[in-house]
Amino acid sequence: MQEKGSISIHTENIFPVIKKFLYSDNEIFLRELVSNAVDASQKVKRLSSLGQFQGELGDLTVDVKFDEQAKTITISDRGIGMTAEEIKKYINQIAFSGATEFMEKFKEANDANEIIGRFGLGFYSAFMVADKVEIESLSFQEGAEPAHWTCDGSTSYEISAGSRTERGTDVILHINEESTEFLSKSRLTEILNKYARFLPVPVRFGTRTESEPDGEDEEGKPKYKSVEVDNIINNTNPAWTKAPSELKDEDYLAFYRELYPYSMDEPLFWIHLNVDYPFNLTGILYFPKVKNEMDIQRNKIQLYSRQVFITDEVKDIVPEFLMLLQGVIDSPDIPLNVSRSFLQADSNVKKINSYITKKVADKLNEIFKADRKNFEDKWNDISLFIKYGMLSDEKFAEKANDFCLLKNTEGESYTLKEYYEKVKDIQVDKDGNIIYLYTNDASQQDSFISSVKAKGYDVLVLDGPLDTHFAAYVEQKGGEKIQAKRVDADVVDKLIQKDEQTALSLSEEESKKASDIFEKAISRADMKVEVDALHTDDLPVSVTIDEFMRRMKDMAKTGGGGMGFYGTIPDNYKVTVNGNHPLVKRIVESPDEEGAKLAKQAFDLALLSRGLLTGSDLTSFVKRSVEMI
Ligand code: ADP
Repeated sequence: MQEKGSISIHTENIFPVIKKFLYSDNEIFLRELVSNAVDASQKVKRLSSLGQFQGELGDLTVDVKFDEQAKTITISDRGIGMTAEEIKKYINQIAFSGATEFMEKFKEANDANEIIGRFGLGFYSAFMVADKVEIESLSFQEGAEPAHWTCDGSTSYEISAGSRTERGTDVILHINEESTEFLSKSRLTEILNKYARFLPVPVRFGTRTESEPDGEDEEGKPKYKSVEVDNIINNTNPAWTKAPSELKDEDYLAFYRELYPYSMDEPLFWIHLNVDYPFNLTGILYFPKVKNEMDIQRNKIQLYSRQVFITDEVKDIVPEFLMLLQGVIDSPDIPLNVSRSFLQADSNVKKINSYITKKVADKLNEIFKADRKNFEDKWNDISLFIKYGMLSDEKFAEKANDFCLLKNTEGESYTLKEYYEKVKDIQVDKDGNIIYLYTNDASQQDSFISSVKAKGYDVLVLDGPLDTHFAAYVEQKGGEKIQAKRVDADVVDKLIQKDEQTALSLSEEESKKASDIFEKAISRADMKVEVDALHTDDLPVSVTIDEFMRRMKDMAKTGGGGMGFYGTIPDNYKVTVNGNHPLVKRIVESPDEEGAKLAKQAFDLALLSRGLLTGSDLTSFVKRSVEMI
């Protein structure tokens, strides 16, 4: 019995078009065929458990084999199999009808992944790499006859009696000239490791050698021999598919290592995701230690659909800030096959997004509450992630306000609320503004830090890449009338301006003179001189940089929208001359040349104390200092 037929496709030349279009991604043929084999195996298992299949289930392992000489790749399963009628229905009609639709729509699609699923091109993807595809199948149904189907990539097929004696299906690909790269153990291993690593049915790919104890030698030492064992390439029961109650910390850590074998660090925390309503989603998300760019590129969140790896490009499925996390998300409800813009508008994706965000925030809060010390210790590693989340996602920020920490130069940690309470009565200016003082570089700004500390003020350390934005966030959301100022934004009495004014001991005339001397000695366009009444024990000269302009420039650097303009403005420093300092008095009273020299020296010291004295200025400063000693 042999039957020839024609596949119901209207466009004759569909294969060349599809092949060409999908070429870049053609390795996914293996994912499609292996997951079909896995599906068929799971179906027979389910039928058996429902009592609808009474036979022996047997070993359900799926086999992937290749033959370099014959140029074939064969995927075999012991699943439900197909009768000739079913092949006609499922392969010729279903798989091929998708292809017709594809022809009409392929222009809109952006990558192969979209097309494959959207048009049910699963089985069909075989023709990306094969000239001819054969199916040998025997259905699980009682009395079924084995069937053989073959198709050379044109729209006609042949179906005849098959030779399979065991339930299940072989799909035999006759690899085309351009795709011989797939006839290699290493290439196939690579693809299987990518897509099949966590499939729920064992997948065997050839054998590998293991050493096995083999008695003892004459000296009584243990001997070993090499044995060939089945090479099962997948873990059928990965951690995320288990109930959280079944898992201990070690299991989560072991799974992390399984996912990212090349990662040096252990994750800090993890979250086991598990929902079934209103969508299906499982997964484990890990919080890694602070990472460099390279790690972010390498160890990304992986997206699965029923344990089949889909992609690690999760950009539109996971909120952007969560992409700093690692781990696995598995959901059959994420529409993987539609275009990106559609994905963002998809209501399931939106729900998934907000669910994950909420879970992550809740988990962090839980850890914070249960073990604050531990949370504080790990803060430096997770703060970037949390701040990114707070700045980019309002819902997350709402929750994170409770556990987001501020650290001061003493290494103490406070929540936003606690910090507000700590400084609100001390660091309040005459207009009732609460001033948060911070440093982004404690060693460089040490002289400023010590002068504000001498006043009994506290200094926060905000030295992360997002902290300029975060300072603005704290001002807006941290409490009433908060202003954040970097310690070098002004002299201490102006950072937090109190009611009581220090009197200036210089006369108006002397003050004018001091200002002239300094302006001349400094003679720099970017430095504005101001003579002010500070305490006698404050520095004679300080160089500060206005908070607002500096912050705008910082933001322009980290890419704040529309801030580019600020990036082009040069730094603008203010030189505050302390009119109450004895040195300044002396400078005013000295002969011209002497006064100018002292003024220059005092100014250079101020630059030096904030690391701004460099190059030839530094050299002449050293020379001048030596002379003066
Ligand atoms: P999809 O898997 O998305 O339904 P495919 O084109 O991959 O689309 O497959 C079409 C149909 O062919 C499947 O739904 C299934 O019924 C049948 N099929 C494919 N491969 C096998 C197999 N190995 N064993 C049994 N049935 C299969």
